[in-house]
Amino acid sequence: MDKIRFATVWLAGCSGCHMSFLDLDEWLIDLAQQVEVVYSPVGSDIKDYPEQVDICLVEGGVANEDNLDLILQVRQRTQLLISFGDCAVTANVPAMRNMLGSAEPVLKRGYLELANYTPQLPHAPGIVPELLEQVLPVHQVVPVDLYLPGCPPPADRIRATLEPILRGEQPLMVGREMIQF
Ligand code: SF4
Repeated sequence: MDKIRFATVWLAGCSGCHMSFLDLDEWLIDLAQQVEVVYSPVGSDIKDYPEQVDICLVEGGVANEDNLDLILQVRQRTQLLISFGDCAVTANVPAMRNMLGSAEPVLKRGYLELANYTPQLPHAPGIVPELLEQVLPVHQVVPVDLYLPGCPPPADRIRATLEPILRGEQPLMVGREMIQF
């Protein structure tokens, strides 16, 4: 039987959710026996999000054009998309800039007012991604199948979510009808 194709994605987040994932410690070995990691910022240098992914944990909010392009691709190519951590679920910390109304005050503060040397706004299309005016939680951009909250979600909660899914069962969370891999 083919292994489950498993991915994790890092959008606008601090990587703390991925660090919590690594806190799964020896259970990661059990996981590795059941899944093939086809894309992840930890332990993989695959650049492009692949086709036909079964499960994807998405960390972070949608804050810039790169995040937006990636999450649209992830949704198109993934059966079960899990909003992983509070930044993905609510936009959380990255969305604190939303109260300023747009991206401009953040850029001015970061690149002009606080700059010690050569203050200038980033203008490198294709290199520095444009900020979106507002940071959005993942479900406001694409449909999400499961929510895994926490800042970060503790490792035992991540395991409690993934274990039943790997058995083809519904975890104790509200989501879409369970998908069989
Ligand atoms: Fe970091 Fe918390 Fe956001 Fe996870 S939910 S990326 S730990 S700030």
